[in-house]
Amino acid sequence: MIFYKTEEEIELIRESSLLVGKTLAEVARIIRPGVTTLDMDKVAHEFILDNGGVPGFLNYNGFPNTLCTSMNEHVVHGIPNDVPLKEGDIVSVDCGVVMNGFYGDSAYTFAVGEISPEVKKLLEVTKECLNLAIEAAVAGNRMGDIGYACQAHAERHGYGVVRELVGHGLGRNLHEAPEVPNYGRRGTGKKLQEGLVLAIEPMINMGVKEVQQSDDGWTITTADAKPSAHFEHDVVVRKGKAEVLSTFKYIEEVLELVK
Ligand code: MN
Repeated sequence: MIFYKTEEEIELIRESSLLVGKTLAEVARIIRPGVTTLDMDKVAHEFILDNGGVPGFLNYNGFPNTLCTSMNEHVVHGIPNDVPLKEGDIVSVDCGVVMNGFYGDSAYTFAVGEISPEVKKLLEVTKECLNLAIEAAVAGNRMGDIGYACQAHAERHGYGVVRELVGHGLGRNLHEAPEVPNYGRRGTGKKLQEGLVLAIEPMINMGVKEVQQSDDGWTITTADAKPSAHFEHDVVVRKGKAEVLSTFKYIEEVLELVK
């Protein structure tokens, strides 16, 4: 069952998505070698509560924390821990908020200090994959057009596109229909209609596309232990151009500041 959103509902999703973007910016302020992902989780947890939201991932299907923090070869769903970040690491930080009954869900992959040019390229291309996927999310296109846009760009660079995890509809639930694969064929799949709110979240591996689940029951890792990147925006399908409800603006202001 797909729930198309009214303009009022879209505004509430936007508010939750903006709080996620601001929360990720607060996290960005502290990311540096020596900081732990649990330190980051604490910052996010307090910031969300201070701003009238509720952490959307905490206790979701039993997830133990506010953030998913996925380091290097960890793709998504990493659990914050007390291991200090090291120079050259990357960390995907995925955050959900529920407020006024509606969810926001966004993710950004951060560099810790200086990272290698190869990994920097992976981050850039993954963000480009997200933007190309968003450009394809217009009314009248089909779901396969979104996946195709992402997959074609990633594979052009020799990267692997994760198949097992996908984007999703978003609203009163964190995960709603339809699924939004990051791979696909043009002109196939469900036709996109105005008012459909999607969380689009490419997970792009430097090496093979295959992933595996770790023993903690949550963390997804690449099969070849090469790094993986992940960026996520919430968008509403419109005529002509999708509207992005979440934002990286606050995050990227912070990243400029600390450079
Ligand atoms: Mn998501």
